[in-house]
Amino acid sequence: MVTPYSSFEHLVLSVCSNRGKGWRFVMADSLTVYVDDSGTDGKSKIAAAAFCVSPVDRWLKFLDEWNRIARYFGFELRNFHMTEFAACRRDHLCQQCLAGHTSLKEHPWQRWSDVKRKNVLTRMAKSLAANVEWCVGQSYTKADFDGHVRNSQAKKSLTEPVAEEYVTFAVQRCGGSFAQWRADNSRYDRLKFVFDTSSTKEKRDIAKVFFAAANDRPKIVNGVEQWFDPEEGVSYESRKITHQLLAADMVAWATATIRARHLFRHIRFVEVYWIARIFVSTEHIGIGYLDKRTLARWERDALNGENREGSSGISKLRPDDAEANQGSAQRDKGEVGCGESRKK
Ligand SMILES: [Zn+2]
Repeated sequence: MVTPYSSFEHLVLSVCSNRGKGWRFVMADSLTVYVDDSGTDGKSKIAAAAFCVSPVDRWLKFLDEWNRIARYFGFELRNFHMTEFAACRRDHLCQQCLAGHTSLKEHPWQRWSDVKRKNVLTRMAKSLAANVEWCVGQSYTKADFDGHVRNSQAKKSLTEPVAEEYVTFAVQRCGGSFAQWRADNSRYDRLKFVFDTSSTKEKRDIAKVFFAAANDRPKIVNGVEQWFDPEEGVSYESRKITHQLLAADMVAWATATIRARHLFRHIRFVEVYWIARIFVSTEHIGIGYLDKRTLARWERDALNGENREGSSGISKLRPDDAEANQGSAQRDKGEVGCGESRKK
């Protein structure tokens, strides 16, 4: 079998050879951010995005562990996707299998017992938590976004770009949390961003709100980055080849599913329960959502001109982040029945 070309290995090689300082230099000095979103299809009522951040050596360890898990339990990472895993069970097939695009060969988990399903997801989530240095997932309903952001008069009064696409705004929110984490921890590592392959429209939107050097906006305000300088590059890759994207897929899926469960009680919660209880027990993985109230407050502040000073594409909703994450982590914890209180 031919090993598929991975730009991840290419990154490692190119960074090393370009600088001539070897492997260690890369490990100590650069962070790779894998970004994924959930809710791009028209049927979904929730938009969500996730960032998973770690140095190159820890991403390699993650990849090694997930490959071992897949090999041991008999599936291939290139066929893995949280939505399809959760939806494809003994009593229920996923859309892909129903349409005949995939079968037992690609989705062997459709025959697995719940014990095996739980075992696999628990191992994957624990490995993710152990190898990712920092991670965030943000979600909101598309209806709230339409009402308070996309169709709001507030957008016209702002000087900085605001995402037009549902999921780009979620990516923008994660960026704000990431910038804050970097500022709080004095993390000035060089950055590489890897996005899941997305539409041209989304790419334009992401470039506009995220890497906006061309807009003449100050890069740092009050110690926090207002846009990112991806010194190690930006790429759009497929999770079928670059499996680190599956980490962001898992977190984005869990974030969206928890929010959906709050709103629509009939949503299946089994798989997300197994995963979320591991995530919320950590200090470095935050999953949260923006409720209607938070988005309404953003709109009001924008209309009053309070977002103008030092506001930016990635950080303007920042003041609410801690509250949004902490608050929902508490709620989510209650939801998944973990029972421990979160350390402050
Ligand atoms: Zn399936």
